[in-house]
Amino acid sequence: MSVAVRKIIIVGASLGGASAALALREQGYDGELLVIGTEAHLPYERPPLSKAVMLGERDEPDWVAERKTYSDQDIAVMPGTTVTRIRPGDRMVEAAGVDHPYDALLLATGASPRRLAVPGADLPGVFTLRTLDDALAIRSRFTDGARVVIVGAGWIGCEVAAAARRHNASVTMIDPAAQPLVRVVGVEVGGAFAGLHRDHGVDLRLGVGVLGFDGDNRVTAVAVAGADPVPADTVVVGVGVQTNIGLAVEAGLETADGGVAVDATLRTSDRRIYAVGDIAAHDHPAYPHRVRVEHWANAKDQGRHVAQNLLGAAVPFTARPFFFSDQYDLGCEYRGLADPERDDLVVRGDLNSREFTAFWLRNSTVAAAMNVNQWDDGDALQRLVDDAAAVSADDLRAGRF
Ligand SMILES: Cc1cc2nc3c(=O)[nH]c(=O)nc-3n(C[C@H](O)[C@H](O)[C@H](O)COP(=O)(O)OP(=O)(O)OC[C@H]3O[C@@H](n4cnc5c(N)ncnc54)[C@H](O)[C@@H]3O)c2cc1C
Repeated sequence: MSVAVRKIIIVGASLGGASAALALREQGYDGELLVIGTEAHLPYERPPLSKAVMLGERDEPDWVAERKTYSDQDIAVMPGTTVTRIRPGDRMVEAAGVDHPYDALLLATGASPRRLAVPGADLPGVFTLRTLDDALAIRSRFTDGARVVIVGAGWIGCEVAAAARRHNASVTMIDPAAQPLVRVVGVEVGGAFAGLHRDHGVDLRLGVGVLGFDGDNRVTAVAVAGADPVPADTVVVGVGVQTNIGLAVEAGLETADGGVAVDATLRTSDRRIYAVGDIAAHDHPAYPHRVRVEHWANAKDQGRHVAQNLLGAAVPFTARPFFFSDQYDLGCEYRGLADPERDDLVVRGDLNSREFTAFWLRNSTVAAAMNVNQWDDGDALQRLVDDAAAVSADDLRAGRF
């Protein structure tokens, strides 16, 4: 950006937005810095919501920074405030009836849980999980003998099922797909996760569609195709998210892949506006298509990365996708971006033992790797994915990488 930047506004007070604010100060930016966010809390990291918080090990998530850090660094955080409009022509953001001018603007508005368009979806007792308040409300219902139904066997569903079992609730998890997590890890690796949940007492119903939620004043059962309704006191719907891109669309910014289209420097179609985190559909030098990633590391790293570009640099973001999950005594890390329907699966170790590394090979290079309960190879796996060098399936199976 050629003009001096003296006022930066960040919309979305969560991981992406707060990481950018802190990085701006680290990089010496001493102009005005305002972070506006809908949630009442200071910015926090969401992964503990479905893990330590849901398990009852603690009541707070990981805060991105202490309250004092923001005041020490003269970062104005405005929680509990929703930005209602952006006027790029005037370089103005509207929030709570007040106009806030900017020189540069960062959108980090993230995503909201998708709801099922079925009867009873709004009944009391039917929850989605995105915020700390959601997590505490759901957890309070996970009691010994509670009847919990999880709709959707994705990452959130699987982690919440594991937490509910820890509280000794009876858990049914329902998904229309053939295996849990199938879209990301495919049928074979998904089968290992199915075994994990069944071994921990989850009644896993796969290939089953949810027709609606029964009950008068509160949910009492989940209606499913081809079987009796499943009794439920509590339902957690984890069927993916929709990005919060309404502001960007209304402001006329280009969109792509369900998000805000940005170039490799994370800049939108407006040269003063950038986007990071779950909403950013960005060009990536390693992929022939835009990439939009809904994971913790992406929001954190893009937030930190975009700071320099907000201040006038034009450095591309090149990190490959990364995420992690914890369920019961299983922990895993996934690096890269594979298409399990198209890429060849190679497994080092034994899927059933739940100590293995899965590789997805494309044109003899590792498109993605996932280590499960194995923690020694993280750096080597990252190199394999980053370098995209030719490698043989035999070498991967034998651990020669
Ligand atoms: C329960 C849970 C567990 C997760 N676990 C993992 C995990 O184990 N590993 C992993 O890699 N990822 C995990 N994730 C995903 C990860 O948390 C997200 O990718 C990350 O939070 C995205 O950060 P973000 O800053 O882009 O958006 P968000 O975290 O969604 O934050 C966006 C913020 O913007 C606010 N906002 C939206 N619109 C406006 C507006 N108009 N005005 C003001 N504010 C607005 C929202 O209220 C929100 O606070 C998990 C997510 C959840 C919900």
